[in-house]
Amino acid sequence: MDIFDRARRALGDLAQSASTQATVLQLQTRMGEIQTELERQYGEAGHRARELWRARVFTDSDFEILMTRITSLQQELDQLRAQVDEVYQADQQPRSGVCAECGRSLEPNDGFCRRCGAEAPSGGSGAPSSPPD
Ligand SMILES: [Zn+2]
Repeated sequence: MDIFDRARRALGDLAQSASTQATVLQLQTRMGEIQTELERQYGEAGHRARELWRARVFTDSDFEILMTRITSLQQELDQLRAQVDEVYQADQQPRSGVCAECGRSLEPNDGFCRRCGAEAPSGGSGAPSSPPD
């Protein structure tokens, strides 16, 4: 075997491993596609089963348990989402009745925080405070 044969052989091995990698990549891509399609089909089946369950056509105790769990998870998710909104809004705009600087509760007529002296937010639900002199 001369040097050219060896080189050719090395190139052949390289090409083969490259094509193996390409094949594996193709297979992985296809597997990913199938997985995505499977999830879509599962979602479709779940959606259909939910419709039947709502129409009281499909009655299965296991499914009942599953739907109860899903419903309670959905409610928990909604509550958490609402909490996130609340936290976000509280962060964005100072709540009336609480000092924006230190968080001390304010009396409705307080123009300034009694702890840190920050200006109390005007407006809100209470009566408008008179401007400080
Ligand atoms: Zn304060």
